[in-house]
Amino acid sequence: MSVSTAAADQSVCAPLPVLGRNVTVPLVTGGEVAYAALDYAASAPALQRVWDDVAAYAPYYGSVHRGAGYLSQLSTDLFENARTTVAEFLDCRADDQVVFTRSTTDSLNLLARALPAGCQVFVFETEHHASLLPWQDAAQVTYLNAPRTPRQAVETLERALADRDPYGPALVCVTGASNVTGELWPVRELAAAAHAHGARIVLDAAQLAPHHPVSVRDLDVDWVAFSGHKLYAPFGSGVLAGRADWLREAEPYLAGGGASRKVSRREDGGVAVEWHESAARHEAGSPNVIGAYSIASACKALTEAGWDTLVAREQHLIDRVREGLAEVPEVRILSLFGDDAPRVGVISFVVEGWNSSHFAAALSAEYGIGVRDGLFCAHPLVRTLLGSDPQTQGECGAPEAAPGEKSLNAIRVSFGAGTPDEHVERFVSAVRELVTDGAKWTYRTEDGRCVPAV
Ligand code: PMP
Repeated sequence: MSVSTAAADQSVCAPLPVLGRNVTVPLVTGGEVAYAALDYAASAPALQRVWDDVAAYAPYYGSVHRGAGYLSQLSTDLFENARTTVAEFLDCRADDQVVFTRSTTDSLNLLARALPAGCQVFVFETEHHASLLPWQDAAQVTYLNAPRTPRQAVETLERALADRDPYGPALVCVTGASNVTGELWPVRELAAAAHAHGARIVLDAAQLAPHHPVSVRDLDVDWVAFSGHKLYAPFGSGVLAGRADWLREAEPYLAGGGASRKVSRREDGGVAVEWHESAARHEAGSPNVIGAYSIASACKALTEAGWDTLVAREQHLIDRVREGLAEVPEVRILSLFGDDAPRVGVISFVVEGWNSSHFAAALSAEYGIGVRDGLFCAHPLVRTLLGSDPQTQGECGAPEAAPGEKSLNAIRVSFGAGTPDEHVERFVSAVRELVTDGAKWTYRTEDGRCVPAV
């Protein structure tokens, strides 16, 4: 692997500069090619701006909330200012809290631990596992069947909420943009339905926040969760932002320093603790100041780049990929809400006659394109879309889904603000070429993954 000094992309509306844009990777067929990172939905490359901001701050790094020294105070200021930047980025209400976590998964698990007693949770089976699974041990959960239109989603939720105990607390958890289909969910309408029935709503914005502006006020959601590493800030931080009351009343997510205001021995020999009521209550331990700072930097960079421009550019890439795939009859794009549904740059598909793992391996080894294959941590949704029981894995190398048969897993291509046109053009021609001519190399299965045989 080497780093070249290829000229920056010259397209009219240029992608935002990201790290890795000049990295080349070897091809099995010989030579090297610029790596096409088309797996943004898993983790997006760092924005150059984020990297530069972190590098500029790094010499000034110091302990947060504890030190009396200049750099500790500076770091504390940066950490606390990062909360303000995130609150502005999400258009939070004045009394919302911004808690720094490790990721979306961490944020939703935190919220699950903060649910009031007797809380009922409503969640669609189509959610990513991070928003599907945290509630089971904390609440009585109702799993809602996959809707086939946004309208059906709202109606399904309304029906379920109408049947609930109207006096108890309730929470709806919904994704903003699917990590499988990229389709946007009717968040504002779902929030209105939730509130009309006295329930609250948390938005899983892991896939939405990197692609669209998110306004807590406008969508009228109670909480939002997202991850830094999908928002071009891969330094191990995430966010849970929203209503303070449930968070303030809950036991701290982790017990320890930072979350506790006062600790003293009790007469009975135990220890009495007074916990903070601010976001620090759920941030015990030394916080990830670089993670928080990098998220704030990404929020500023995206806002300054301008959402209208970013969304328009991404829509152009989405159109290119969808048009290109539509020209290959063997390709079937997975969709819940249909062709006209608004979506972000996340597209999953299957190829007739191909094992998805084999196809993804060939895209990597023969074209230098990084996509993802599998079930994308959303097993019930992918199972519904494939119409299959994906318990059994197909053997790589051997075509799995013969004409008329169902695929066992899918391929996902995803992109965003740093993606040059060339990456999606290369992807579209690679798909066409692989389907027409077949793979040039042979592949075998190793530890359940498809890899080049040599
Ligand atoms: N929700 C969605 C919609 C996601 O796509 C993902 C990541 N694939 C998550 C939650 C979990 O994010 P993380 O792994 O950063 O916790």
